[in-house]
Amino acid sequence: MSDALKTVGDLEASGLAPAHSGLDAVAKKYAIGITPAVLDLIDRSDPTDPMARQFVPTRAELVTTPDERVDPIGDLAHSPVTGIVHRYPDRVLLKAVHVCPVYCRFCFRREMVGPQGLGTLTGDELDAAIAYIAAHTEIWEVILTGGDPLVLSPRRLRDLMERLAEIEHVRIVRFHTRVPVVEPERIDAAMVDALKASGKTTYLAVHANHPRELTPAARAGFDLLLAGGIALISQTVLLRGVNDSVETLAELMRGFVENRIRPYYLHHPDLAPGTGHFRVSIAEGQALVAALRGRISGLCQPTYVLDIPGGYGKADIGATSIVGSDGCFTVRDWQGGEHAYPPKAPD
Ligand SMILES: *Cc1c(COP(=O)(O)O)cnc(C)c1O
Ligand code: SF4
Repeated sequence: MSDALKTVGDLEASGLAPAHSGLDAVAKKYAIGITPAVLDLIDRSDPTDPMARQFVPTRAELVTTPDERVDPIGDLAHSPVTGIVHRYPDRVLLKAVHVCPVYCRFCFRREMVGPQGLGTLTGDELDAAIAYIAAHTEIWEVILTGGDPLVLSPRRLRDLMERLAEIEHVRIVRFHTRVPVVEPERIDAAMVDALKASGKTTYLAVHANHPRELTPAARAGFDLLLAGGIALISQTVLLRGVNDSVETLAELMRGFVENRIRPYYLHHPDLAPGTGHFRVSIAEGQALVAALRGRISGLCQPTYVLDIPGGYGKADIGATSIVGSDGCFTVRDWQGGEHAYPPKAPD
């Protein structure tokens, strides 16, 4: 297997960026990472290729807007100990690593991930994070994110899972990862065993943004995870020039369901620095989600969410299809028709 592309030199040598691309200033701020599996998906003949757009850096990232922020979703405001984000009572994020196999150009944690990022928890920090979870009996779910937790070796993941196994009040362990799509060869029997080693109910949220990411190799990984008893859900970021069309979103959501992955979240893009070229408006997002409603199966409907800047958590921002109050609602159907509820009494 060849290595990931990690430098401007690598990009120029592979032809993904022109010689003297002027990307050094971007590379100084944000990490670069393109795995062999992703490289295979990039269509070099298409100047608007949605795969290249997600992973190949551009100078547009040097442009920041006044509303963008270094910590767009307020992780730091809710971090009681290093590596833990505790925003909702019953669940915590455990960020053991800040490394990813790829570096998405729109990443909401781009200031924290990568070689210059927050690094990997030390042994002492991990002990303190686990002690925090053990001490807080209201924590029902531990969500491993990062970075990408699946960059850890199966041995290290197993150690971590075995420590969570001892905490009785934790019932669910959830992983958020891009590995099954961008480095599918990591999903093997040893990895699946490690992910299950907590003995808890395990969910894995697959991050994918374009139907082309659901390759046969990715599918093989999903099948192994599912055969191991791990439930799969999806997460997608709505991105201009990548998936901001009804056709693309419909194909992606159907692709998830065909792979036995239940669509979970469609994220409105966060206000991460240098990502303005990816942002769609909320009105556009609402129109896309409304159009999906009637067009594809209910199994294929994600929840459209916004992480409220400042650390206030996620809000469902799909356009509401009901207005009014008790006794007098107007309900909108999937084709835009409006109906009274309760309906008028028949004559
Ligand atoms: C997104 C997030 C979660 C998980 O939210 P769900 O709605 O349960 O998926 C938990 N904690 C933090 C800090 C988050 O940002
Ligand atoms: S895999 Fe996730 S955390 Fe890593 S760069 Fe992409 S969006 Fe950011």
